[in-house]
Amino acid sequence: MSCHGCTTSFGFFIREHGCPSCGFSYCNKCLQFKCELSKLGPGQHKVCRECSEHGGQPPKRQYEPPAALIRRLESLENPAGPPITVYTPNPRMVQLKSGLEEPDRQIAERLEKLRADRKKGPAPTEEEVVSRLARLRGQSYIPANTKPTYTAPDTRTDQEKTDSLLNQFAEEKQLLDKLPSPEQEVAERLNKLRGQSTSPQ
Ligand SMILES: [Zn+2]
Ligand SMILES: [Zn+2]
Repeated sequence: MSCHGCTTSFGFFIREHGCPSCGFSYCNKCLQFKCELSKLGPGQHKVCRECSEHGGQPPKRQYEPPAALIRRLESLENPAGPPITVYTPNPRMVQLKSGLEEPDRQIAERLEKLRADRKKGPAPTEEEVVSRLARLRGQSYIPANTKPTYTAPDTRTDQEKTDSLLNQFAEEKQLLDKLPSPEQEVAERLNKLRGQSTSPQ
């Protein structure tokens, strides 16, 4: 370490002192300027020449890093940056592909491409997938909502509609009643396991 003012190296005889204003290291000779420093209380304090010339403020311009360095540091803090897509080969994939047989290499490349595609946007909807499949099969795809369907106009009266609905419920209930209850099912399966014949109920 050496003095920030006269560049003399510090040692046993030349002691290092920090300027209380700018914090740089100075020898005793270079830290003999005096000025008021509000942060250290009232009175005069020993500072470096530059700080004394700037009224106890560290001279900013001299110690500011170059603009290019500031930009670089900012870009390191915000890696997102502008929406520029740079396609660089993934080193891991390159390494993976190096020792592969041709078919395996092709699969690896397709995987990589799929991954890149997935980053581009949301996954395709079910309809898009169906239409793509249809195209692959050589069929023409008609979206479900545009398929021509014929529904006969309902000319029944409200009473008829209600009756028909009630009939449907009754039929469904009959079907459900024919099914064995869960308890019956378990009992029958237990009987089967015991080797007994089941008696229809
Ligand atoms: Zn010095
Ligand atoms: Zn200073």
